[in-house]
Amino acid sequence: MRIIIFGPQGAGKGTQAAKLVEKLGAEHIATGDLVRAEIKQGTELGQKIQEYNDKGELVPDEIIIEMTKPHLSENESWILDGFPRNQAQAKALDEALEEINEKVDRVIGLEASDEDLVKRLSGRRQSEATGKTYHIEHDPPPEEGNEEDVGPFIQRDDDTEEAIRTRLDTYHEQTEPLKEYYGEQGILVTVDASKGIDEVTEEVMKAVGENK
Ligand code: AMP
Repeated sequence: MRIIIFGPQGAGKGTQAAKLVEKLGAEHIATGDLVRAEIKQGTELGQKIQEYNDKGELVPDEIIIEMTKPHLSENESWILDGFPRNQAQAKALDEALEEINEKVDRVIGLEASDEDLVKRLSGRRQSEATGKTYHIEHDPPPEEGNEEDVGPFIQRDDDTEEAIRTRLDTYHEQTEPLKEYYGEQGILVTVDASKGIDEVTEEVMKAVGENK
């Protein structure tokens, strides 16, 4: 199954994608992770895209499309997270899938208010060791680290209030209109992401025809 998990930053795309990966045995293709990995490796490309990432701005389309494309044909089942983020990327995705005679089966649109999202994102901490995300209030990281997760637990460079606002503005301007695009194709299912994680997961599983 080829699934896009869609929604604003902080809506829980990564969390729900992980549940889908577990249930469906699909590959998780998270373009934000691809971007951060490239930056961490300090490649020439990584240096070029770091500034966009840190400011919360979109990396240019041709770069992100080139980075994403190889992953689409690697696996028959995937959960695409963080892509497409605008019309040009949605078109590029359709074209890349046409080349391999495939199409997107389902788009899951997670929805939450900006106010909730800013609260979630500014409290978010990520383990450098495992990549797992925590929230300082709702799901705090282990204090000194533990055997399963030694940390350190850091705030992402783009989880500052200013970068969060930029990312949400970009989402509303460029990404949200894609709901119409996928709605017209009859493959969009929207889910209220302001609820608790388990309730959201239940809805997400229903959207892909799986019971939890
Ligand atoms: P995310 O983890 O999905 O919030 O992505 C982190 C950052 O990576 C974004 O703020 C962008 O700078 C970059 N990025 C990830 N996915 C895309 C995309 N589809 N198009 C452009 N930039 C992206």
